[in-house]
This record gives sequence, C-alpha cells and structure tokens, in this order.
Amino acid sequence: MEERILVVGAGPAGLAAGIAARSRNKAVLVVGNPTQDSPLAKAERVDNYPGLPGLTGAQLLEQLAQHARNMGVECINGKVNAILAWDGGFMLTVGSQTYQGSALVLAPGVVQSAKYPGEEALLGRGVSYCATCDGMLYRGRDVMVVGRSKDAPEEANFLHSIGCRVTYVSAQRPAGLNEAIPHRVGHRLEVEGEQRVSALLVDGERCPCQGVFILRPAIAPADLLPGLQVEQGSIVVDRNMSTGLPGVFAAGDCTGRPYQVAKAVGEGLVAGESAAEYLETKENN
Ligand SMILES: Cc1cc2nc3c(=O)[nH]c(=O)nc-3n(C[C@H](O)[C@H](O)[C@H](O)COP(=O)(O)OP(=O)(O)OC[C@H]3O[C@@H](n4cnc5c(N)ncnc54)[C@H](O)[C@@H]3O)c2cc1C
Repeated sequence: MEERILVVGAGPAGLAAGIAARSRNKAVLVVGNPTQDSPLAKAERVDNYPGLPGLTGAQLLEQLAQHARNMGVECINGKVNAILAWDGGFMLTVGSQTYQGSALVLAPGVVQSAKYPGEEALLGRGVSYCATCDGMLYRGRDVMVVGRSKDAPEEANFLHSIGCRVTYVSAQRPAGLNEAIPHRVGHRLEVEGEQRVSALLVDGERCPCQGVFILRPAIAPADLLPGLQVEQGSIVVDRNMSTGLPGVFAAGDCTGRPYQVAKAVGEGLVAGESAAEYLETKENN
C-alpha cells in the first residue's frame, strides 16, 4: 500500500489539505472536478479572505492550485465514483483508473443530493453510481444510464463496450454518446423494484431493466464511503477534522457552515496535518 494521502475535491479545502501534508513531506494526490466547477469560480469578487482582498474567485482558486502544484501536490482532474476501504488503506475509482493511498481527506464541498424515489432503498441492489466498479455485473443485461454529469456519456459508452444493453436518459441526447446507444428524454424518474431493481419509470413510463446507473457531477460523501457519520447533510468531525473512521478526515463546506473560503482553508490545513500525523503513527507501529 502506497504511503500517500488521497484528497477528494480540489477546492480551497482540498488544496489547503494538500499543501499542509506536503509541508510535512508526505506524498499527496488531489482528485477533483476541474477548478471551474468549484462554486468559488463563480464568485465575482472575494473581499473577505484575509490578506488577499479583491481577487475574483477564479483567481483565488488558481493561486491556490498553483501553490499546491509548486509544493509538489499531484493534482488530477476527475470525479471520484467510489471509495473502497481496502488493505488498511483506501482505493479511489476515477473513470477507469484506480488510485491507492493510506489516508483520506474528504473535501467535496456541499453536495446537493436530492435523490429519485426508490434510489436510496435500491442502492447496491441494482442502483449504482459507478460504471467502472459495477458494470461487469450487468453484462448482457438491460441498464438505464441517468446522465446528469459531463462524463456520463463516456461511462455509458464503457457499459455498452462491455456488453450491457444501455439506454441513456437525459434532457437531450449528449454529444459523445455512442450512436448505437438509444436515448430517451426523461425528467421525472423513479426507480422501481422489490428486492432488486426491476424498472426505471421515465416520466411515468415503465422501462424494465436490471440496473440503473445514476451519474451526477458529485456523490454525497456517505454514499461514497459507507459508515461515515453525517448530520443534517454535513460530515461530523472533531477538532482534528477526524471523521471517526480510521484514517479518514474531512474539511471545508462538507463539514457545515459557515460556507466560507477562510474556514475551508483552515480546516483543510488541520485535515492535512492530521492525515500526515496518522501516516507517521502508522509507520512507527
Ligand atoms: C457565487 C459564490 C460566491 C461566493 N463568494 C464567497 C466569498 O466572497 N467569500 C467566501 O469566503 N466564500 C464565498 N463563497 C463560498 C466558497 O466558494 C466556499 O465556501 C468554498 O469554495 C468551499 O471550499 P471547499 O473546498 O470546501 O469546497 P468547494 O469549493 O465546493 O470544492 C469542492 C470541489 O470538489 C469537487 N467534488 C465534489 N465531489 C467530488 C468527487 N466525487 N470527485 C471529485 N471532485 C469532487 C467539487 O466539484 C468542487 O470542485 C461563494 C460561493 C459562491 C457559490
């Protein structure tokens, strides 16, 4: 198991965690959606970040990302689809790639996680958020892909390539979707099934299937990592930013209000330090 720290989310909290961990000479990999997807990129002007007033949100993010890269933080663009606690460490799935590490910092920001009826109850029993992780289970079967993220067509193409019978559901047919994959326009969705998924209701019409892949830009942390304690949508942490799961820390908007850059950066610093300390303690035992 590689002794490095994995960070989910490349906003202020994740980048600050990476910088703090590099200051303690730890290897760090930050996986995040492109910086322009961070809510901060939309801020016209940030006047309350101490010491650096007047920058646009995009400028502040770029400076943070540049600082992290200069410190030796490895940053890759991508959406983490699944996290597996494995062999005393963690494995992240990003598209068709996997990345391993020994400690984990969650910094995904606020994840809007309104779910479709039936989704929660059938998660893991036909409902999946990760084509690469679960696709093989559905070879030769009918699956519906609910495309809500930019990378969803790619994931649908992957499912098609391994032999799933894919139907893609979204507001309109996306660019990049394999022409052999049928598309359905759908807005109101509901997952149906008793023990397992049996159909997806698309605007009231029943589409029989064995699997439903729901691909959004972000996944609620508790769905990514079972066992995580969440209260009113925020990850519960202590003063060390520990989530209570061994080796798992969290920082930024995902831990609750105030939703501010200074708070995200401060928590990221503590989470990065705590993750580094966790590795050192592990190495010495
Ligand atoms: C319009 C606007 C103006 C604002 N103005 C200010 C201001 O003036 N001052 C201020 O202090 N704050 C401001 N904020 C709030 C500030 O943007 C947030 O508090 C801050 O960005 C939180 O940082 P974070 O790192 O916790 O989360 P985020 O910045 O949300 O970063 C998290 C990143 O992780 C990504 N992510 C989520 N899940 C995954 C996954 N599974 N895999 C990979 N990546 C993932 C997200 O897409 C996102 O890019 C503003 C916000 C908005 C929307």
